[in-house]
Amino acid sequence: MTIIKNVRITQGQELVAATVIAEGGKIQRILVEESLGVTESFQGNVVDGNNQLLIPGMIDVHIHGAHNFDMMDGTVESIQAVSKACAETGCTSFLVTSVSSSLEALLQMIEQTKRVIGKEQGAKIAGIHLEGPYLNVEKKGMQNPVFLRHPDLEEMKTILDVADGLIKMVTIAPELPGGLELIDFLKERGVVVAIAHSNATYEEAQMAFSKGASHITHCFNAMPAIHHRAPGLVTAALEDDSVSVQAIVDGVHLHPGIVRLMHKIKGPDKMVLTTDALQAMGVGDGDYLFGGHQVTVTDGVARLQDGTLASSTVTMNRSLQFSTSFGIPLADTIEMAAGTPARVLGIADVGQIKEGFVADLVLLDEEFNVLTTWIDGVEY
Ligand SMILES: [Zn+2]
Repeated sequence: MTIIKNVRITQGQELVAATVIAEGGKIQRILVEESLGVTESFQGNVVDGNNQLLIPGMIDVHIHGAHNFDMMDGTVESIQAVSKACAETGCTSFLVTSVSSSLEALLQMIEQTKRVIGKEQGAKIAGIHLEGPYLNVEKKGMQNPVFLRHPDLEEMKTILDVADGLIKMVTIAPELPGGLELIDFLKERGVVVAIAHSNATYEEAQMAFSKGASHITHCFNAMPAIHHRAPGLVTAALEDDSVSVQAIVDGVHLHPGIVRLMHKIKGPDKMVLTTDALQAMGVGDGDYLFGGHQVTVTDGVARLQDGTLASSTVTMNRSLQFSTSFGIPLADTIEMAAGTPARVLGIADVGQIKEGFVADLVLLDEEFNVLTTWIDGVEY
């Protein structure tokens, strides 16, 4: 039994003093304020949280790499490096995320993910997110145009067969030929269909949502800006309550005003913080090879040679810090980093500090530095 005492947790919008007791990988008891005295009756490994903030382990649905490793390397070592980098930054579950590549490279990455799953050295793999290859070259961002192609149901079937249920999210451009059929195909197999790297008009996006696309990858990035006579994909997504949106909140990808606008329209239940981090995360400035491109990181900002933003180097704990500094309430920010991504992925018992939930927990100091991460109740 682990007794994490003297912490603050959110309850609604309030911060309350609490003790959280974990056993068998689950949160067994949460004692708040008046019931705190009961702590004495529990025996176990006591951790004093020193009145710091305890949050549910964060979930990153979009991460490509970290610590000089790119998961498209197709090695176990790369995936384990990201798993550890996540745990160090308060993220306890993540989706191994591809970039557009050859089928061979993708299958190799999937095979390696299968070898790691269940043996992660840090954060847990919640599945795989395919970002591409069925994306629109006109909004390619850092996706390598050599590998962009039109939806191919046969190819997707091969991928899903090899992945054996691990594909949880696929980001597509629905306006491409075969895009709507691909949505049907993925929805039938229980995959979350996300949209980005897309030039979809308002009407095309509405059609995709009516088919079951339900998520927007890095909303506002790699898609047309809102125009009052050409409202586009973003407007359709913001307007549709069934659609959730990812936000890269790193102070670069989105203006603070846009982060606040998204939060105001979508609320914390439909907005997800993601890093979209590349292998420079946790390393620093320099030149990197990513998705077959040379990417230069300067002052923590990753760009292609032509200046296009290429992923980020932000971490989940820094994303929390940016979000709250932009004026998003702390409790909402935590929900956007943990509870909401869990719901988007359909994982029932993670993402909240709640009795009976998995004891994925993170202790943070006032500057959002990670003090301790617990995964399944075990200190990382
Ligand atoms: Zn992208």
